[in-house]
Amino acid sequence: MPMSADRNVNLLAELARRPGNSECNECGSKKPEWASYNIGVFLCTRCAGIHRGLGAHISKVKHLKLDRWEDSQVEHMKEVGNVAAKLKYEQRVPPCYRRPTESDPQVLLEQWIRAKYERLEFTNPENQVYTSGYMQGFLMKRGKDDNKYHPRRFVLQEKDGTLRYFVKEKKEPKAILNVIDLNVAFAPAKLDCANSMQLSFVKDGGTRHIFVLHNDPEEIVKWYTAIRCVKLHRYQVAYPSASESELVNCLSRDFIREGWLSKTGPRPTDSYKKRWFTLDDRTLMYHDDPMDAHPKGEIFLGCANDGYSIRLGVPPGAKELDFSFTLHTPGRSYLLSATTDDERDKWMLAIEKVIEKSLTPQDNLVLLKLQAASRIVSSKKKGTSGIF
Ligand SMILES: [Zn+2]
Repeated sequence: MPMSADRNVNLLAELARRPGNSECNECGSKKPEWASYNIGVFLCTRCAGIHRGLGAHISKVKHLKLDRWEDSQVEHMKEVGNVAAKLKYEQRVPPCYRRPTESDPQVLLEQWIRAKYERLEFTNPENQVYTSGYMQGFLMKRGKDDNKYHPRRFVLQEKDGTLRYFVKEKKEPKAILNVIDLNVAFAPAKLDCANSMQLSFVKDGGTRHIFVLHNDPEEIVKWYTAIRCVKLHRYQVAYPSASESELVNCLSRDFIREGWLSKTGPRPTDSYKKRWFTLDDRTLMYHDDPMDAHPKGEIFLGCANDGYSIRLGVPPGAKELDFSFTLHTPGRSYLLSATTDDERDKWMLAIEKVIEKSLTPQDNLVLLKLQAASRIVSSKKKGTSGIF
């Protein structure tokens, strides 16, 4: 028996190095140490935990080294493996579905795994309610002024590309949002709720955030996917020559970075104030509170060539605070300070990466929208006509 056990451990180790098996079947993280021996896939620790949560009637989980394996179980792992299992369980993943990676929120990863093996969504497309182009139901929406959550009926329609929500039945919608302009992101840490989403869009020239949650994680991922799906179809109509993969990349953006920073006002005598910063693509927003419906200010980040730069410390004579750095824009310099050295490095690196990228026509649209707003706090001196 010990000989067979040794042999099985070695066989499993060899199988786990094969192409396809050397990455977790669900999230792609390297060197999986677990497996589902009835499904026949290799898994990372986190995904193995989710598999275990499905129940042994769906997935039976073992550690590759620490558990004892029957010869037949090892044989099954050899017969199936990640490549063959993907062909089976991911046959019909719709293009708008966000396939999770290891750094993604738990709700997305967990629902991906449940969709695959519990609901068999990708083998039975009729189970994909989010691709129908219409969805309606209640979400708990955070009140703009009272900070409480209220049930609101949301209706998503592909035919006119809108998401609307109603405060009262049989009344006009409270808001009609254009899905094309809507960004949707998971916001688990900020809302202190795994099943939550942040919807952001530009209204009257400024960004508006809406926070929603649902007690059922499946529902929140359904809404997330349905919005992406409607967006994809509207994009396909608007940009018929673009490839599907290009469009899929534009369906939703995660925020590049969020957190507290201190910032001074425009006058040299102004003191530092704590603000919640959100770096969303080329827009750096700051808020009094992470859950504010509107940012206090929005800074468009152009290119290094157009006079945008980020520097350690503050200009000579300016007030310095703990972990200071300065964002120079053609219109104004922003004195900022992080809470730790490490945070400062991360913020500087994130902003630098954005500034180093060249502008796309889409970026210029964002700039124009922000410039149209009265609360615009920074503008490019040079015209953008060269790019249009
Ligand atoms: Zn994984």
